Amino acid sequence: MKSVTYSSTRGGQHNLDFRTVVMTGLAHDRGLFVPDTFPTVEKEELESWRSLSFPDVAVKVLSKYVKEDQVPAEKLEDIVKRSCAAFRHEEVTPVIDVAGHKVLELFHGPTFAFKDVALQMLGNFFEYFLETGSNGGRLAVLGATSGDTGSAAIYGLRGKKGVDCIILFPKGRVSAIQERQMTTVEDENIHCVAIEGTFDDCQDLVKGSFNSPEFRDRVKLGAVNSINWCRVLAQITYYFWSYLRVTDQEEHKDSKIKYSVPTGNFGDILAGFYARKMGLPIGKLIVATNENDILHRFFTKGEYHREEIAKTISPSMDICVSSNFERYLFNLVGNDTSKLAAMMEDFEITKKLTVTGELLEKAQSDFSSARADTSMTLDIIREYNETHNYVMCPHTAVGVSAIYQTKDVDETMVCLATAHEGKFPDAVKMAIDPLPTPPPQLACLLDLPTRLSECPNDLKSVQDFMEKMIAERLASK
Ligand SMILES: *Cc1c(COP(=O)(O)O)cnc(C)c1O
Repeated sequence: MKSVTYSSTRGGQHNLDFRTVVMTGLAHDRGLFVPDTFPTVEKEELESWRSLSFPDVAVKVLSKYVKEDQVPAEKLEDIVKRSCAAFRHEEVTPVIDVAGHKVLELFHGPTFAFKDVALQMLGNFFEYFLETGSNGGRLAVLGATSGDTGSAAIYGLRGKKGVDCIILFPKGRVSAIQERQMTTVEDENIHCVAIEGTFDDCQDLVKGSFNSPEFRDRVKLGAVNSINWCRVLAQITYYFWSYLRVTDQEEHKDSKIKYSVPTGNFGDILAGFYARKMGLPIGKLIVATNENDILHRFFTKGEYHREEIAKTISPSMDICVSSNFERYLFNLVGNDTSKLAAMMEDFEITKKLTVTGELLEKAQSDFSSARADTSMTLDIIREYNETHNYVMCPHTAVGVSAIYQTKDVDETMVCLATAHEGKFPDAVKMAIDPLPTPPPQLACLLDLPTRLSECPNDLKSVQDFMEKMIAERLASK
């Protein structure tokens, strides 16, 4: 059996294999890679997964896409199991009952946020592909972060053979815990770089580096941002797992399961959409946003119009455009690459994309949406602590607020808990005082030694820094 192949949403690349799309990240025509077919899972097969552990369910889901011609079955299993072993909870991503609905806790990984699920796997795939000849065995991953992505990438890539990981962050503008999570990692292949500037400046430096073909090829640049197909694929696994856990309950065994997903770059919820395409009985999918509500405006009014970023208490969802949304739009326009490319190019110029009529109706049948502002978010954190003795992070609270707004509070509703509350003490303290005791792994961060570099906010300096660092790393081998 052959693995699923991939094409660009904008029509410039076709029939690529899993290895290529994982190593490349973004398509050459600036589109995103999407699977050419979605494998399906029939009811009977799904039932046969009921007694499996999380890692075994994940292997089943991944092996629908990735066959022996890409990764030998044994190796795939090894990659998934090692990735899951990095989690503290024996069920990896447990489903719990709270306040008459379910919560899928995705934050038991090394950096206490859901991005660990995918980045642990991506790190192991990179290592395997480099070992088996991709890219001449070397990769320099360059990323920009305003918080959670950087630390999850660092923990996914630390110590991986052939990989160097360079993370740019705006100096003095990430939270103390987030900065410490990055800079206390001692592995020699990890390089944290503070930039005198904003997160947007950091992103521009990353984009600028990818847009310099000579530099890109010389240092063998790679990316781990949320558009990497491997991240979306890895996230599909926990929709299958949580569906099985909710339908373990006799009274729900034939129910469709609903999900509410705190959303920024549309990666996590897109995985749910793809799980439904694969045949998983999912009912509603709720897109939950904070004040940065471009997606909520799209699903209510058909207007995907770019606005300035607002700074909120759920910073990992502070975006003005959603980098994975193009994958959904591609689906919405019936996989028409010319139409999609025209829409995206127009959006890049006008910063506005509008759909009406049938397209809007179709979008609204695919997703519901809701927006929670700061006071709604804090109310949920406060109320759940007082009434249900459950403390959640501000991102998770946005998702929980959404199910009250859409009147979907019941036992078949699963809210994705995307981070541990201990990562966002300043926000949680606005609702709960005194704060709960933080987990020891977070509490001890302030006492550990740190390692970081600084670099001026300018493309040439960053590129020189990287070339020098890579030359030193190669010489020290
Ligand atoms: C990244 C992140 C999100 C948003 O996820 P997307 O896949 O970008 O929609 C939500 N919550 C937390 C804690 C995150 O780190």
